[in-house]
Amino acid sequence: MNAVDASEHYDSSASELAPSLLTVILDTNPRAWAVLEDKLPFSKALANILVFINAHLACNYTNEIAVIASHTQRAAWLYPSFNQYKPSHRRDADGDVQMNGQATTQLDSNQANMYRPFRVIEEQVTENVKELLASTNASDIQSTTSTMMAGALTLALSHINRRSMTWAETHGAVNLDAPHAPTGPSAAAVSTSGNANVGLQSRILIVSVSSSTDSAHQYIPIMNGIFACQRLHVPVDVCKLSGDAVFLQQAADATRGVYMSPTEPRGLLQYLMMAFLPDQRSRKHLILPSRVDVDFRAACFCHRRVVNIGFVCSICLSIFCEPPENGDCLTCGTHLEIGDYGSKPAVIARKKKKKKARLNGSSATGTPTPGATPGL
Ligand SMILES: [Zn+2]
Ligand SMILES: [Zn+2]
Repeated sequence: MNAVDASEHYDSSASELAPSLLTVILDTNPRAWAVLEDKLPFSKALANILVFINAHLACNYTNEIAVIASHTQRAAWLYPSFNQYKPSHRRDADGDVQMNGQATTQLDSNQANMYRPFRVIEEQVTENVKELLASTNASDIQSTTSTMMAGALTLALSHINRRSMTWAETHGAVNLDAPHAPTGPSAAAVSTSGNANVGLQSRILIVSVSSSTDSAHQYIPIMNGIFACQRLHVPVDVCKLSGDAVFLQQAADATRGVYMSPTEPRGLLQYLMMAFLPDQRSRKHLILPSRVDVDFRAACFCHRRVVNIGFVCSICLSIFCEPPENGDCLTCGTHLEIGDYGSKPAVIARKKKKKKARLNGSSATGTPTPGATPGL
């Protein structure tokens, strides 16, 4: 009998693995969350996401996290907060801040025993969410039903880019997955080869509740963000709790991310832990849930309507729901020859038939000529 050897289950370079940067984009559209209130209140969803974030950080002590809110009027940082973050102080009933270190002694035992990175993230995220919701007034919600997904994607991409560059500068962007990590000039060649294993591994998770058709006016910036993710090998995972996420389905499909639409939103944490926790390295060994019937519809550039069939400019590939005025493309200005689009086709088949019938008749009965009229 062979000796039991589990060594192949362990990556020998595990201690040197490049960290994984997870960027969570949380759709905080109050309208959509109000609809979900009975099934999954926002506070519970946020608590579930915080547990998921902690799990991601616990996988590797060098793992990084970023949280962005895609709100109705703007996209905002929840963590890390660059400017506005003030270290949270415990406030008493009057709202006064405890001074001189008394705050730490008054922490409840739960928080005092909490792993510090977990606590810092939880405090910043909850504090920033409170500020964001407090700054939202009724007119903001009434004026729009959409969410700033394009802005949130752009923030995520710029953060990923900055962290990747910083990581590459400090670590030399060496492929740590390779059995013999190259050094010297060849290391630089590897780093520019576009291999997804090189450097900081980044991925984006979008927790979506809004309907994409409401944000059809953001179609172009969203698609540009998706193509940037595709080029940077950043998978976009989508957890859709409600609404229809037409463009996000395409995002997950184009970037080889995970797309899930939980039938039971109350089980959010379970879905997050099972489907979205594995990083790119683990995903190579897993069969992930993915969607087969992706909705590939696009939004027209003229009215931002989601269309099934449209007109495409042959020069710049802009999509229009109807032929543009005077045949001039609204994007590039090229004059397009549309021809007689919309005019009714000339029906000539009937005329031909008539002609044939007369000819046949004439051959059978003889053509009556004015001169041959009998009786005259
Ligand atoms: Zn249109
Ligand atoms: Zn054009």
